[in-house]
Amino acid sequence: MPAIFLILVCFVGVGFSLLLFGGWLIFTIFRLIASGVESLIHPRSNRAVISQQTSAGWICQRAMCRSANPSHARFCRRCGRAVVVEPVKARMAVASL
Ligand SMILES: [Zn+2]
Repeated sequence: MPAIFLILVCFVGVGFSLLLFGGWLIFTIFRLIASGVESLIHPRSNRAVISQQTSAGWICQRAMCRSANPSHARFCRRCGRAVVVEPVKARMAVASL
């Protein structure tokens, strides 16, 4: 009797793991498709990331990244995207609109 219970627990564990992995896989595939469609609609947004300048460097503005990078870096060290540092004047103009 305990052996059957143990096997049942194992199957439940494996099933739960498969469910989690399947959900993650589906989510990842849909995210990839969505980013592909977005890059087709807005090709420029895929190449450059407008970044926030700080005293130590700049922060990647991609929602999924937000990595802090040294000021001399031209590409994000985490996601690898080319970076365009947003001028302070342009940000002020956007804020005033
Ligand atoms: Zn990044």
